[in-house]
Amino acid sequence: MKILSSLTPPLVIRYRFSMLFRDDLLSLAPYTAGKSRPGAIKLSSNENPLGSSPKALEAIKEALGGLNRYPDGSARALKEKIAARWKLAPNQVVLGNGSDEVLTLIAGCTVRSGLNAVTASNTFSEYTFAARLFGGNVRKAPLKEGRFDPDAILALCDNSTRLIFICNPNNPTGTYLNHAEVERLLRFAPAETLVILDEAYAEYATAEDFPRSRELLERYDRLVVLHTFSKIFGLAGLRVGYALAHPEVASWLERVRQPFNNGNLAQVGAHAALDDHEFFEESLAVNREGMASLVAFLEDKRLMYYPSQGNFVCFNCAEDATGLFERLLLDGVAVRPLNSFGLPEWIRVTIGTPHQLDKFFMAMERHY
Ligand code: PMP
Repeated sequence: MKILSSLTPPLVIRYRFSMLFRDDLLSLAPYTAGKSRPGAIKLSSNENPLGSSPKALEAIKEALGGLNRYPDGSARALKEKIAARWKLAPNQVVLGNGSDEVLTLIAGCTVRSGLNAVTASNTFSEYTFAARLFGGNVRKAPLKEGRFDPDAILALCDNSTRLIFICNPNNPTGTYLNHAEVERLLRFAPAETLVILDEAYAEYATAEDFPRSRELLERYDRLVVLHTFSKIFGLAGLRVGYALAHPEVASWLERVRQPFNNGNLAQVGAHAALDDHEFFEESLAVNREGMASLVAFLEDKRLMYYPSQGNFVCFNCAEDATGLFERLLLDGVAVRPLNSFGLPEWIRVTIGTPHQLDKFFMAMERHY
């Protein structure tokens, strides 16, 4: 007591709270989101530059009158729609408040202290977050030429590995593992391990050997495939993502899911977006054209970049990326410096509309 009273108030508070909270969570920090400023062209969060699916917006408007009611906790209509799209059974679809939430559902029913998850060192941060949240360790294999390295991943696995997270295409490099490489991972992963194939950007992929994840789901019951409505459907603010999995795996995810994790508007909006083929195709076309002009620009400037299968490209700016980020932002263009991804000299640019990309090119001409 004497010692305590001689401490300054902040130290006393720290002492008390350090007893209260889990010290294994000290390594977690709040998510670093893509930064922008009002009025800037935002090419920092891999959002759809065309806005949202108009069909989704229409359905959302029509559903506004029902907000006094709880949503359908089993999201039956949306699940059936997604299942039909993938030719799977509805009990193989698990919905989340964004695929972010699905990641925590997966970790929540597999990982605890003493167990581990394996992923790459430069990838989406939420894999680490999800595993650590439940007390698991995270092992990270370096990328090889900007790509996930299946051998290095497998070498980190042991019989305490419960999860392997593969980001395909990888955020932030845009690179991908092909069908044969993912299949090899599935074949050689330890027996008690789920392989999570995060296909948040897969709708944009054009490579012929891009994994046919539907086919793999048929053959590997420890595969979980993740998709989201935040990218090509333009509904990042609505928060809907989903997992496709073997029914038994899906039933475990359902066990740890909150009852109403997708609101009424989210359910009807996502449902309608799946029928909006026009918006989907237009989004693909804008991405294809933007990708060609962005790559041509980077080639012209002799900037090193990774060929991307997503809606973004990452390039090496040969300086501290935050410096260039700040200069570009002064000109009203927000990109993503990749320091928080462990790539301090790299910048990720989301493919925008032709007008947005022109602004980026002009800002680069001035500031790089
Ligand atoms: N996976 C990857 C690879 C992502 O880049 C993102 C979004 N930044 C997500 C998942 C999360 O998407 P959602 O908006 O569905 O939570």
